Amino acid sequence: MGNIFKFLYPPRCPACRQVMEEDGTYIHPECRGAFKTIGEPRCYKCGRRLWNPESDICSGCRQKKHSYGYGLALYEYNEVAQRAMLDYKSEGIRRNGDFFASEAVNVLGRLIKRLEPEVLVPVPITDRKMRIRGFNQSEYLAEKIGGALNIPVDTDILFRTGEKAEQKKLSGRERLKNVSDSFKAVDDNPYKRICLVDDVYTTGSTMEGCTRALMSKGAKDVGFVVIFSVPENDTE
Ligand SMILES: [Zn+2]
Ligand SMILES: [Zn+2]
Repeated sequence: MGNIFKFLYPPRCPACRQVMEEDGTYIHPECRGAFKTIGEPRCYKCGRRLWNPESDICSGCRQKKHSYGYGLALYEYNEVAQRAMLDYKSEGIRRNGDFFASEAVNVLGRLIKRLEPEVLVPVPITDRKMRIRGFNQSEYLAEKIGGALNIPVDTDILFRTGEKAEQKKLSGRERLKNVSDSFKAVDDNPYKRICLVDDVYTTGSTMEGCTRALMSKGAKDVGFVVIFSVPENDTE
């Protein structure tokens, strides 16, 4: 069974997509550079690269006043990262998820540990996406990251409150309102310090919705880790 699976789905490099030897590595050494980790200084709210070294928060985050306390992002947004993410999310190539999670642990693991979250909570996906994909890509990442860092993962405290209009069709303000209505945390949430896990960060409205839901149920310190951030001007 395992052999047939490998024959049908041989391991492929997340960057160039060529079939790889099963040698315990996720990516060709020469392809590593295709994924660019975000260098210092970074915005502590959204994890994006900061171009003004005088400040510790980006202009977007200064304007929006997010409720979450910190944000960590692994990679710069580029075509390779975006394609590898689509292969993972839409094609279900778990190996890319394994790669992303292991890189997140290598690059951001110490920072995450220093923030001392009691728990990792993956951002829930809609029922429709669950039907299409068959898995929650953020939950898979959270399980891998949490396993490596020895931080528990809880998927039973945060939920979507049901389908709303497609987020993309709404303006920024509508989107924020819409999303913050879309998440709900359980009444008996036992955690104060929570690190959300998602695949991609765009406007921050999803994180804001999750954070408000959790804070309304007793969480005090909520932040997040994502694989990459899409620059805001790419999403408008
Ligand atoms: Zn490669
Ligand atoms: Zn920011």
